[in-house]
Amino acid sequence: KPGRRAEPDGPQPVPGIARIIAVASGKGGVGKSTVAANLACALAAEGRRVGLLDADVYGPSQPRMLGVSGRPASPDGKTILPMRNHGVTMMSIGLMTNEDQAVVWRGPMLMGALQQMLTQVQWGALDVLIVDLPPGTGDVQLTLCQKAKIDGAVIVSTPQDVALLDARKGVDMFRQLNTPILGMIENMSTHICSQCGHEEHVFGHGGVVAEAAKMGVPLLAEIPLDLQIRLAADGGAPIVVTQPDGPQAQGFRHVARQL
Ligand code: ADP
Repeated sequence: KPGRRAEPDGPQPVPGIARIIAVASGKGGVGKSTVAANLACALAAEGRRVGLLDADVYGPSQPRMLGVSGRPASPDGKTILPMRNHGVTMMSIGLMTNEDQAVVWRGPMLMGALQQMLTQVQWGALDVLIVDLPPGTGDVQLTLCQKAKIDGAVIVSTPQDVALLDARKGVDMFRQLNTPILGMIENMSTHICSQCGHEEHVFGHGGVVAEAAKMGVPLLAEIPLDLQIRLAADGGAPIVVTQPDGPQAQGFRHVARQL
């Protein structure tokens, strides 16, 4: 009903942030962080005020992917100043720990850290906050969806069965949490040899299309397995920044325009 307030204990909007979009995956290593970084930069390039919250506690890769380092400042001792690069305001659990230090936190500590990154970081006014979630269906996902009103989830998967099986669980989790699923992205969909142009489906092809159709979820894009995408991501400036008009950037830009 119009004007109805959110339940006091239910998911709340975060003040100043118009939309929160979660980027999730069933498995690690499927390119979830690469997608999150490229979507954030593509949105920024379109003039949207965008934030990226790296909540992948077990493998925070956004500092590297966005070329950000150093410890965030807290001038007042209460709030934290986010970092900024490529037009994206960002905060990562990886900036609070040493890069090669493993995060061995229990559930409540993880939830505290997530809460802190959502509410104590000075995000400023944002049109979109992209949240890079850890893989799987654990405490962080649950806490995020229960505390903050998530406007949509994007699920990244590679086409092979092992990854799809877990992606399906991700879809199921968001459905149980009443989080709208915007769609799936098939990453490492196809590989085109940079030497000879031969196209190969390293992880099979069409797996995500079929799975998305089966679950009634839109397929947002198919992203190729491409050396340039990896070099850009690992080099601190995503492909949508380094080669915005190249073919590898188009899938990301296409999805960003729909967010
Ligand atoms: P996740 O967040 O799912 O664990 P990452 O985004 O960290 O996965 O990606 C894992 C590795 O694969 C990174 O080195 C990244 O650069 C690389 N990668 C991701 N997507 C692609 C792609 N489409 N083409 C080439 N390399 C990719």
